[in-house]
Amino acid sequence: MGVRYRRVLNVWQGAYPEVKSHSVSIGCLHCVDPECAAVCPVEAIYKRVADGVVWVDDEICIGCQNCLSACPYGVPQFGVEGTMQKCDLCIAQPGSEYGPPCVATCPGGALSLKTLTTAEKEAHQKTIASLMP
Ligand code: SF4
Ligand code: SF4
Repeated sequence: MGVRYRRVLNVWQGAYPEVKSHSVSIGCLHCVDPECAAVCPVEAIYKRVADGVVWVDDEICIGCQNCLSACPYGVPQFGVEGTMQKCDLCIAQPGSEYGPPCVATCPGGALSLKTLTTAEKEAHQKTIASLMP
């Protein structure tokens, strides 16, 4: 219900009777070259040099939704405030030194927070893009 910072895709592959299904949890990928930032008319989105987090300044956002059209992964969310929201790794939340709550509470240990090289990040983006419906 409402704004979703992560969503789970059910991915089906193959053809009957060799069919496989698995689940993929998708949030903002904090892209190497974020397409959302490139189309923002007011520069409300930027990639932080220090840690690569793609940050949205909701004081600047005018709610045009250009970023939603541009994001290959359908990440940008718009709640009642009308401004863009998405995963920011919870870096401004109390307790952030323990990592994002989604990572801490995943019972299967499927989520992790780690630093990737640019090549690893690009490969990850490519994999996720191939799974998009
Ligand atoms: S909102 Fe989409 S395009 Fe922007 S950084 Fe996140 S995944 Fe990449
Ligand atoms: S909705 Fe906000 S963040 Fe997205 S492109 Fe428009 S002004 Fe920028």
